Amino acid sequence: MNRRSKLALAVCGVAILSLTLVAYGYQQPAPSEEPASPQTMPAPTMTKLADGVYHYFGFFGSSLVVVSDDQVLITDPSNPARAQSLKDEIAKLTKTPVTTIALTHEHYDHVGGTGVFPDAEVVCHINCQPNFDLDSLGDVPIVDTTFEDQLEIPVGDKTVQLHYLGPGDGEATTIIYMPEEDIIVTADMYEPRALTHKNWVDDKNFTGTRYILNTISQWPITHAINAHSPGTDPMDMMENVEYYNDLYEAVYSALAAALEQGGFPALFGVFQSLPNTLQLSKYQDWANYDTSFPRHVERMLQAITHAD
Ligand SMILES: [Zn+2]
Repeated sequence: MNRRSKLALAVCGVAILSLTLVAYGYQQPAPSEEPASPQTMPAPTMTKLADGVYHYFGFFGSSLVVVSDDQVLITDPSNPARAQSLKDEIAKLTKTPVTTIALTHEHYDHVGGTGVFPDAEVVCHINCQPNFDLDSLGDVPIVDTTFEDQLEIPVGDKTVQLHYLGPGDGEATTIIYMPEEDIIVTADMYEPRALTHKNWVDDKNFTGTRYILNTISQWPITHAINAHSPGTDPMDMMENVEYYNDLYEAVYSALAAALEQGGFPALFGVFQSLPNTLQLSKYQDWANYDTSFPRHVERMLQAITHAD
């Protein structure tokens, strides 16, 4: 790696962490007499979910870790610093090196750091590569294996499934599922009782996200790992299924009423007024509602009328 790449990585890592903190609404600690220190970042945790199956949470990001005698599968190393922390925590569980890295989608804040695991096979949906080709900062991985609809990866006596159900957050949205353990991993599809911040919804397909969440909510799930919060309660996901359904119904009804009254020209009026007038009071206590709900209405309007 040359010096420019290293610099880019360092800048990128700091930028991504800062953006992540802001985007996902992490609270700053209350002001105190103590000087601010970088150690306010919570220590990483490795939580056992089932035999040989763990949830790593560190640097404000989640990874699934599946361990067998001679294989280790992980998801989303994210960036070199986080990947090293993940590697250190895995070393407390097994001497076996990471053999497979399954990426949840193409967004750069999830896919960096694969170089920390030099022997691992990197798996990403076929839609990842065209987005990696556009990278300027130099931390996207070399993808070894792609898939289109579904891929099954055996890890010892366990099975890890990768499902593509269409665009959700990005174009390569991959749902990772362990059918024996009923453990699911989604990334950037939802946050517990929080709207995805308005800065990060431009590449989120709102009808696609609704479709994916409704589909996977029918699967048996004991633990639902999401990208940027430490909890795995499936109820967090179910509340978001309801949110996306409620948002869709409210926006669709307004569009249908306008069409009936004024035909297609009336749709322009809905685009202008609805983001400022629609409220879903059920969700007003969720984080980011005040700042980001109007943008969610816009994105759902665009998804219904424009397919993205
Ligand atoms: Zn994303």
